[in-house]
Amino acid sequence: MSIQGAIKIIKILKREGFEAYVVGGAVRDHLLHLPINDVDITTNAKPHQVSKLFKAKPTGLKYGTVTILFQDDQYEVTTYRLDGEYKDNRHPEEITYSEEVIEDVKRRDFTINGLLMDSEMNIIDYVDGKADLEAKVIRAIGDPYQRFNEDALRMLRAFYFQAKLGFQIDRQTRNAISELKDQITNIANERVIAELVKTLKSKYLRRAFKSMVTTGVHQVLPGLEKGIEYFSEHADKLFVEVFFTAAFALNQGVIPDVWKFSNKHKHRYQVASQLANQKTAISAMDLYQYGLELCLLANKVNYVLGRAKLQGAEIQKKYHELPITSEVDLKLRAADMIEITGKKAGAWVKQIQKQMVIEVLEHHLKNEYEVLKTYLINHLE
Ligand code: ATP
Ligand code: MG
Repeated sequence: MSIQGAIKIIKILKREGFEAYVVGGAVRDHLLHLPINDVDITTNAKPHQVSKLFKAKPTGLKYGTVTILFQDDQYEVTTYRLDGEYKDNRHPEEITYSEEVIEDVKRRDFTINGLLMDSEMNIIDYVDGKADLEAKVIRAIGDPYQRFNEDALRMLRAFYFQAKLGFQIDRQTRNAISELKDQITNIANERVIAELVKTLKSKYLRRAFKSMVTTGVHQVLPGLEKGIEYFSEHADKLFVEVFFTAAFALNQGVIPDVWKFSNKHKHRYQVASQLANQKTAISAMDLYQYGLELCLLANKVNYVLGRAKLQGAEIQKKYHELPITSEVDLKLRAADMIEITGKKAGAWVKQIQKQMVIEVLEHHLKNEYEVLKTYLINHLE
């Protein structure tokens, strides 16, 4: 999608007698010469009227939004609205359409996100967003206390925009965050994760972490307190999983229950953070037990925490040199062991296999049938 595409859409809407503007992030990023993520259009046309003019999908009808397909790109078109009462500090209870674009601008979060662009690419600014864009300031539209009370997610969005743009958060807006930060715990955890992930992927992450610490927001993100503090002073670029694993490593390898990561991610963060806390050097046994990916992650975590060197290449090499990666790779099988000894199957099989695995991994034994058979005979009690 592009601003040019959006301008064409606006012209079509205007020709039909409606008002329409580009709004939000696309206008902001266009003025900052940044790549544009997605383009939002705001209009007084109702969703059914938009749907008559374009190929449209009802992606957010509840909120007056349709996604239209125009010249192979998608655009979100939303009818001017006023947001009603919010519940859970998050969702507007009901929305009301508005006739005035200014009302639609005022429901938006920050002044830099409240700029409009018309069909001639003129900027229309009802909220002094241009001045804030030039001064590199993130400022809530209207009373920050009221705006964060309506929707607590906006507090996390302030840090995301700081991380994305490198701007400062205005003092009043920051004070309101310090005061209202506890409401962040009322937001659905998946949304908190999504906002954090966007923040973690952004260029000026460290600044956002610094502001989280000065406002105390890190304290309402359980288990991440120490990680956010640490990374507000270290490391400029962090992969998402390295951050979460390192933060939980600094939290004794504990992931508090509030976090609704996918099972796969939770498992990764859990195992790798504990492994990183136990070992600063990865052994053949670790690779055998946990696999390559988790060992590489644990090493990266120890690296960003200043506990070890990056050992990616060595760990890969060690992994590819493993004589076995599972006990079924042993050349002497459980069935062989039972046949050779004439003993009944039982716990002893697992026991001796375990010892063989260790001996083979440490290169004390070759993984050969005859060698393992001799070992077996010598180690039967
Ligand atoms: P990005 O570059 O991440 O896409 P964006 O500013 O476009 O940033 P979106 O989440 O795509 O952010 O939202 C589009 C616009 O909708 C915002 O610019 C803002 O005007 C408005 N908006 C989004 N979320 C909220 C919110 N929680 N409260 C108020 N306004 C919001
Ligand atoms: Mg956007």
